Amino acid sequence: MYFAGLETRENDGLRFTSTIERIQVTIANQLGTHITLLEGTSGLFAASDLVSINEFQVYIDRLNLRRQYPGIHGIGYIESIPSVQKETLTSQLQAEGLTDFLIQPESTLPQSNPVIYFEPSEGKNSRIVGYDMETEPIRRKTMNEAVLSGKATMSEKVPLLQMTEEEDQAGFLIFLPVFSTGIVPPTPAERQENLLGFIYSPFHADDFLRSVVGAEKSPQVDFRVYDGDISSGNLLHDSRNFGPYSPPSYAPRFQSVRRINAAGHTWTIEYTTNQAFDTVSDIWLVPFVFIFGLLTSGVLFILSKAQYEAGRKAEVSEGNLHFIADTGKVLASSLEYKKTISTVVKMGTIYLADWCAVEVKKGKEIEQIALAHRDPEKIKWAKRYRKLNPPDLKEKNGIAQVIRTGKSELYPVITEKMLLATVRDAEQAELIRSLNISSVMVVPLQTHNKTIGAMTFISTNPKRRYTQSDVSVAEEIAQRAAMAIEHARLYAESEHAVKLRDDFISVASHELKTPVTSMKMYLQVIRRQLDKKGEKELSLAMGKIGTQVDKLTLLIQDLLNVSRIQIGRLDFHDEWFDLNGVVSDLVESIRPTTRKHSISIHGTVKKKIYGDKDRIGQVLINFLTNAIKYSPDAHKVEVWLSEDKESITVQVKDYGIGIDEKYKDKIFNRFYRVSDSDEKTYPGLGIGLFISHEIIHRHGGKVTVESEKGKGSTFGFTLPKKKKPGKA
Ligand code: ADP
Repeated sequence: MYFAGLETRENDGLRFTSTIERIQVTIANQLGTHITLLEGTSGLFAASDLVSINEFQVYIDRLNLRRQYPGIHGIGYIESIPSVQKETLTSQLQAEGLTDFLIQPESTLPQSNPVIYFEPSEGKNSRIVGYDMETEPIRRKTMNEAVLSGKATMSEKVPLLQMTEEEDQAGFLIFLPVFSTGIVPPTPAERQENLLGFIYSPFHADDFLRSVVGAEKSPQVDFRVYDGDISSGNLLHDSRNFGPYSPPSYAPRFQSVRRINAAGHTWTIEYTTNQAFDTVSDIWLVPFVFIFGLLTSGVLFILSKAQYEAGRKAEVSEGNLHFIADTGKVLASSLEYKKTISTVVKMGTIYLADWCAVEVKKGKEIEQIALAHRDPEKIKWAKRYRKLNPPDLKEKNGIAQVIRTGKSELYPVITEKMLLATVRDAEQAELIRSLNISSVMVVPLQTHNKTIGAMTFISTNPKRRYTQSDVSVAEEIAQRAAMAIEHARLYAESEHAVKLRDDFISVASHELKTPVTSMKMYLQVIRRQLDKKGEKELSLAMGKIGTQVDKLTLLIQDLLNVSRIQIGRLDFHDEWFDLNGVVSDLVESIRPTTRKHSISIHGTVKKKIYGDKDRIGQVLINFLTNAIKYSPDAHKVEVWLSEDKESITVQVKDYGIGIDEKYKDKIFNRFYRVSDSDEKTYPGLGIGLFISHEIIHRHGGKVTVESEKGKGSTFGFTLPKKKKPGKA
C-alpha cells in the first residue's frame, strides 16, 4: 500500500506538472500568435500612408478572426494626433465616408488617440469607432509604455467597451505602436516623434483563456489567472467557472503558482487539481491495494493457521500414539511395577501433562504410588499438598469419585475459586496457588472391571485445556498401567507360591531322608530274621515293602536333587567308567518292573568315559522309566549306544503316546508336566527330565528329544569324549 501510494503520488505529481506546463505553453503561444497578428496588421499601415476603411475591412475579413483566432474580439487602428487636430481628422474621415465618425468622450488632454477603424464592426464593436483611448487612464498608460518600448504592450485588467454593464467580464488590450518610419525608431524620443498610431486588440479574458484550454476535453487542473499578483481584484479568469464542478469541500491534491511574461506584462497563474484529476488518478486504487492486501493476508493467515492446527493435531495425535506405544513397552518390560509406573508417569509429563500421578486403593486408604512433575522442584510442593489434603474415599469428586465409580472425570478449566473451595487454611491456599493448576483429568485404573486406582493428569499451562480426546488417551494409558499392576501382582503372588513350595520341598526331603533310610535298614534286618525262621510269605511281603521304600527313596532323592540344583549344590563325583556295563546293569535292574515291555540294547561304546557314573545312570533310569510309563500299549523299549570321533550318544526309544511339538521345550522345566487330558492318569512330579537335563548339561553334553504325538518318543543324551582333566 505504501509503495502503491508513493508511486501513484509520484505519477499524479508528474501528470499535474505536465498539465500545467502544457497550459503555460499554450497561453504563451496564443499570446505570441496574437502579437504576431497585430504586427502583421501594422505592416499594412506602414506600407501605405493612408489605409482606407475598405482596405482594412478586406484585410481583417481575410484573417477570418473568429475562426482562426478564437478569443480575439477584433483588431482596431488608433490614430495618434495632437488634440488640436481632432476636428480636422473628423471632417477628413467624414469626407471619406465615415459619416457618423465622432471623437468622444470630450477631453481637454493635449493628445488624442481615437479609434479610427475596428473590424469586425458588427454589433457592439461598432460603438468603439471614435472612442478616444487617451481619455481612459489604463489605456493611456499602456499606450505610453508601448511607445517607449516600441513593442506590443499588454494593458492591465480593464473593463471593455464592448461589454454591457451586466457582463462583468474582465478584459485586457494589447497595443502595438505604428511608426511613420516603417521600422521601430531606435530611441524613445524618435519613437514619440514618428508615432502614427496603434494597432490594438481587445480581449475578453474568459473568452481568450477558455479558447486556450479549450483543447483540454475534461480539464483535470483548474487555474486562476491574475493580472500581476494574486488578489481578488486582479482576477482575470477562473477556469472553475467553466470547468467541471468540484464541491466546495474539495481539497486539491496538488497546487502550484506560475508566472507568464507576455507583451511586457506579468500574469500570475494559480493551478489546482480538481475532482476530475482524482478520478483519473490511481490513488483510489491504494485503498483497494490495502483491502486486497488485507484480504490476501487474511486468507493466508487462515490457511496457515489451519495448516498449523492440522499439523499440531497430527503432532499431538502422533505424540499420543507414541505415548501409548511407549507406555506399553515400558510396562511390558518389567514386572517391578512400582518402577515401571514411575516411568509411565514421567512419560505422562512429557506427552500429556505437567504433573502426573498414580494412586491405588489400599483397603480404606488411597495410596500414591507414583508422582512426576515436569518441574522437579515442584514435586515436593505437590507431595506436600497431597499430604495436607489427602484424598478421602468418601469425597464426591476427583480421585475418590473416580475410584468409587470407575468413571473418568474431566475438569477442563480449574479456577482459583474452585481450588480455594477445597482448602482448609491459608497455608494450603498459598500452596495450591503456587501449583498453578489449570486443567485436570482423572481416569480409572481398572482390571477385570474392578477399579484398583486412578491416574491423574494435571496441566499448569492455561493454554493447555484438556478435552474429551485427551481423556481417551489417558484412559488408554491407564488401562495399560492397570494391566501392568495386575500382572505384577499375579507374578508376585506366584513367585511367593513357588518360594513356599521350594522351601517346603527342601525341608520335607531333608526330613524324610533319614527316617526312610533307617526304615530300609530295619526292613533288611527283619527280612533276614524272617528268612532264618523260614517265614517265607512274610519275608516276601517285607520284600515288597522294601521295593516301595526304594521308590520312596528315589523320590526323596529326586526332590533333594531339585533343591540342590536350585541352590547350585548338586555334587558330582567324576571317574572313568564303562558305559556299556552301566547300561546293561541298569536295564537288568529295570526289567523286573515291567512285564509288558522287552528292553533291548543295541550297539556298544568302545572307550571308557569320564563323569559321575551314578548321575549318568540316574539320567538313564529317568529315560527308561518314562519310556515304560508313557507307552502302556507298546511292547518294546530300545536302548541305542553309538559314538563318533567327538562324542558318545545314548538313546532310549519307545513306541508310546509321544509328545506334541509345542511341549518339547517345556518338559525340561522344573515341575512341568504335559497337561493334556489323556495324560492326567500318569503319575509323576515333573522333575525327572529337569534333573536329567541339569546332569547332562553339567557334563558338557546335550539332551535331545524326537517325538511324534501318538507314535512314540526317543530321548537321548550326547556326551563329549573327554580325557581325564590333568592327564594327557
Ligand atoms: P514325570 O514325573 O511327569 O514323568 P518328567 O520330568 O520325567 O516328569 O517328564 C516330564 C513330562 O514329559 C512328563 O510329564 C511327560 O508328559 C513327558 N514325557 C517324558 N518322557 C516321555 C515319553 N517317553 N513319552 C511321552 N511323554 C514323555
